[in-house]
Amino acid sequence: MTDLTKTILEQMIKNIQPKIVSSPDYDISFFGVERLHPFDTRKYGRAWHTLRREYGAEIARRTIKPENEVSDDDLLLVHTPEYLQSLQESPIVARALELVMLAGVPYNLLKNRIIRPMRLATQGTMIAAQQAAVDGLVVNLSGGYHHASAAQGEGFCLFADVPVAIEKARQTGALKRDQSAIIIDLDAHQGNGHERVYLDKHGVFIFDMYNQMIFPQDEHAKTRIDYGIALNAGCAGDPYLDLLFRKLPEALDRVYNPGMAFYIAGTDITAGDALGGLKVSEEALFRRDQFVIDTLMARGIPTVVVMGGGYSRTSYRMIARMVGYIIETYGDARADESAIHDAG
Ligand SMILES: [Zn+2]
Repeated sequence: MTDLTKTILEQMIKNIQPKIVSSPDYDISFFGVERLHPFDTRKYGRAWHTLRREYGAEIARRTIKPENEVSDDDLLLVHTPEYLQSLQESPIVARALELVMLAGVPYNLLKNRIIRPMRLATQGTMIAAQQAAVDGLVVNLSGGYHHASAAQGEGFCLFADVPVAIEKARQTGALKRDQSAIIIDLDAHQGNGHERVYLDKHGVFIFDMYNQMIFPQDEHAKTRIDYGIALNAGCAGDPYLDLLFRKLPEALDRVYNPGMAFYIAGTDITAGDALGGLKVSEEALFRRDQFVIDTLMARGIPTVVVMGGGYSRTSYRMIARMVGYIIETYGDARADESAIHDAG
């Protein structure tokens, strides 16, 4: 690296002001029915409160709360009107959520307890993308619904929040027409939703590293992956990190004019996860998150981090650790600035 490149990179990193997008209303609660699903639906709030305890007012100061759910107009940037219409019936929502016992539940209950938090989180990913263009690195403490496509919800995903955020960013100019969006999907499951959304479209580079032996095994969607790493069940941390460390930089070198990256940081690759089928340790997961974030920041690519899947009771702690790393590593610029102001 030349001295000039180094100076430019250091300058870019100084301009990063990490933010967190989060709302107490992200959490899903449904009279305990949510406990029948192997998903800790309150992990978002738990993660935020863990961070608040550890970092104090700094977390509140960096948090942006989405006030409204995503509008139908914004959802229509990606979804079909017929699909949005279909989500007004309990059986269809229940099927997408893989919770068939909810098929007979009155629609208004589903709407308030499940659909509303997911629409709020979709708005959160959209806000995160707008903010990332300004602040460089923004974490939405939910979202990453990577199985939802234009006309279908599945795998606990109703809304394709990342594609909606990409299309909105294009509309507002946060992402320029000639810039590529990058999706780095490291959730244990193949991200067939955004792959289907972009099947016939350019301008989005998709990197997907997933367990090929579990849901969704969507062969058609796989044809849209620009750089794929299909893992076998049981893959442990060392081979996982070895592959990622070698392949991600190689993949990023291929992206034409990168404008914004979306990192789907699913914690379901860890050994204790009920659905992911991989055996990565929590320590190796942390190194994964550090590597992806540091790589993107070193390249000066504005980045949005979304949560994706993570079904264990300790998922919230892993999320808090990653966000803590972001605050500690990239949150100093502001402290430096205020020191300068104080001195002046
Ligand atoms: Zn997953």
